[in-house]
Amino acid sequence: MSKKDIIRKNIEEIKEDIEKYSPQPEKVKLVAVTKYVGIEEMEGAFEAGNPIFGENRVQVIREKKEHFDSTPIKDDIQWHFIGNLQKNKVKYIIDYIDLVHSVNKLSLAKELDKRAAQLGRTVEVLLEVNVSGEESKEGYTVESLYKEIEELVKLKNIRYRGLMTMAPYSEDEKMIRGVFTGLRELKKELNERYFEGHMTELSMGMTNDYKIALEEGATIIRIGSKIFS
Ligand SMILES: *Cc1c(COP(=O)(O)O)cnc(C)c1O
Repeated sequence: MSKKDIIRKNIEEIKEDIEKYSPQPEKVKLVAVTKYVGIEEMEGAFEAGNPIFGENRVQVIREKKEHFDSTPIKDDIQWHFIGNLQKNKVKYIIDYIDLVHSVNKLSLAKELDKRAAQLGRTVEVLLEVNVSGEESKEGYTVESLYKEIEELVKLKNIRYRGLMTMAPYSEDEKMIRGVFTGLRELKKELNERYFEGHMTELSMGMTNDYKIALEEGATIIRIGSKIFS
């Protein structure tokens, strides 16, 4: 099989899993995490019906975006930022980014808000939460999120669309499931207290744990290895 045929087959398998595991498959979006791959593989994913690309480095997402800007599919691609975003790099993505998954501090949110205001746009974001409290992970702890939430919701050029998390890498299915149910419950609580139901997205699930995430209500799964290898 050619590289593109393999990518197509992998994406089809994931789409079948979405139907099989998600209670609401029509709500689920697949982000093809393209941080490991180049243009040819990205074209393969696009041609297989997956136009959402997730990247975790500003320099790389810019270069790839520039490439696709000179192709006929440029307006059909959605760009998601999924990595740790430094404040001073916001300016390099703000004019085209469709969703930032990884807002993890107030200073970053303020910068996104300010830059979006300058462009007369709003920016869609998810709040990244470190549900398990693992030290090595990026993201708000639940406690630190509650400390900043009232300041966060004041930022008028930000649309908070939901929450994102990464489960620890583990074989312990119960623990992983606990992380995903924790995120779902946190979203429910935040919706009741602050967002009036406007938080609709749960970005959770990667190659190793996306089936569990789907069962627990993921609306966005972020998959790299399973698509591209
Ligand atoms: C790399 C990455 C993924 C995809 O990981 P795979 O295990 O290759 O599917 C998803 N989310 C984030 C935040 C990542 O950095």
